[in-house]
Amino acid sequence: MADTRYIFVTGGVTSSLGKGIISASIGKLLKSRGYSVTIQKFDPYINVDPGTLNPYEHGECYVTEDGHETDLDLGHYERFINEHTHKANSVTTGRIYLNVINKERHGDYLGRTVQIIPHITDEIKRNVLLLGQQYDYDFVITEIGGVAGDIESLPFLESVRQLKWELGERCLCVHLTYVPFLAAAKELKTKPTQHSVKKLQELGIQPDVLILRTEHDIPADVRHKVSLFCNVLPEAVIQSKDVPSIYEVPLRMQAQGLDSIILKKVGLDPNATVADLDKWKNFLDKLYTATEEVKIGLVGKYVELQDAYKSISESLVQAATYNHRKLKLVYIHSEKLDDANAQEKLSPLDGIIIAPGFGQRGIEGKFAAIKYAREHDIPTFGICLGMQCMVIEFARDVLGHANANSTEMDEQTDYNVIDLMESQKAITNKGGTMRLGAYKCVLEKDSLPAKAYGTNTVYERHRHRYEFNNKFRKEFEDAGMRMAGINPDSDLVEIITLPDKKWFVGTQFHPEYSSTVENPHPLFLSFVSAAVNK
Ligand code: GLN
Repeated sequence: MADTRYIFVTGGVTSSLGKGIISASIGKLLKSRGYSVTIQKFDPYINVDPGTLNPYEHGECYVTEDGHETDLDLGHYERFINEHTHKANSVTTGRIYLNVINKERHGDYLGRTVQIIPHITDEIKRNVLLLGQQYDYDFVITEIGGVAGDIESLPFLESVRQLKWELGERCLCVHLTYVPFLAAAKELKTKPTQHSVKKLQELGIQPDVLILRTEHDIPADVRHKVSLFCNVLPEAVIQSKDVPSIYEVPLRMQAQGLDSIILKKVGLDPNATVADLDKWKNFLDKLYTATEEVKIGLVGKYVELQDAYKSISESLVQAATYNHRKLKLVYIHSEKLDDANAQEKLSPLDGIIIAPGFGQRGIEGKFAAIKYAREHDIPTFGICLGMQCMVIEFARDVLGHANANSTEMDEQTDYNVIDLMESQKAITNKGGTMRLGAYKCVLEKDSLPAKAYGTNTVYERHRHRYEFNNKFRKEFEDAGMRMAGINPDSDLVEIITLPDKKWFVGTQFHPEYSSTVENPHPLFLSFVSAAVNK
């Protein structure tokens, strides 16, 4: 509470430098020393949350346990610090304005003129401090989306300025920039960094730590130059050189003393705690020493932008690593897949993921993949829409109902094996209205999922409108499909399996949201193990 420390991570020069990974790495280092930590993301767009954004716009939409649709960086935070995040960990400009406008309509401003400063900035500050106050964290790390100098980020940076002033030593700013290497001149260039720090200084923020993203080692003289020109201590100028795995970043930061520098700056004794990173290092060791490959195909329609499946690909990396294999992930465009080329594209694979998604595009390719996988007994994991496609394919090719479909794809089908949830029928508002967040799932005793989890009840996160239509349940069961996971409150089907196959599982929920480096998801572990032993 009174002692919570606040760390802001800002970015300069260009986007996509990996502020999310740096924020997550700082969180990991502090947590490894026994501090309680959470990480929050501020996104400078007007959407109230990223839930309605097409994955091509902003990558995957990540869902928290408490059912909030958030930016994919929250997935990195959870995978690194192994803690759940909440609704309050993801805030957009749209959310801030909506709150302020609602307060204004409610008369809370007592007739005053409502302005960016102080009303919007006060609302931003309230959202930063809320996490520390509500949950009593030792550290709240806040990542500010966008790049210093963007019009959109200005109210956030003004709030950082005010908080630095108000909180004094309990507040710290880490600025991430880029140091390009000019091949022709064979030189690393620091000018963009200097300009970006100037921009922050113009806004009244003096960064305490600079992290320089680079493709080459930054020599001591260049660090000193940056230190001198940017008013940052030489030891607080840290390099973040490209590494083969994002999971190496915390160790690279630690090797340069980033955690000690941060602790000293916020008035804590770095010698009072020791970092325990044994589990993390052990994972990394396995990741780097695995030589044999496991080849997994991911069938989806957003494959051009791999961020669209970020949590799935990270879950697979983790599961492969714990299975002592190197992951070879092959993205297969569902629009380019059909019965004619399925053999050529799928037979080299050890396992197949049928991806989540929305709408008709690419759906027939998913059916072709499932049919091939089922008939050739390749381990297959269908997630959300992927599970729904497994059900539809089974209805068409095994039960013989050629027009079976989801009402999402064909409203007229009389064989609507996947149908809109009752609770969804009256909803017209598209934002935040799906079945979202964690729901209970009771597993069928002795089923493959129950064995994989090693328990009978689990909670898993959801993000969908449609569900298995229980009207057809008996027909499916009689033909050999098992409903291996059920929500006890609604009787909704959560998991389907074909027990006569080596590994054929579909989940209505998204297990990928809860797989972390130190707690890999049991179903991904089991799936990859089946793929390895195919
Ligand atoms: N479109 C499907 C539904 O809304 C599946 C959603 C998903 O895969 N996340 O039910």
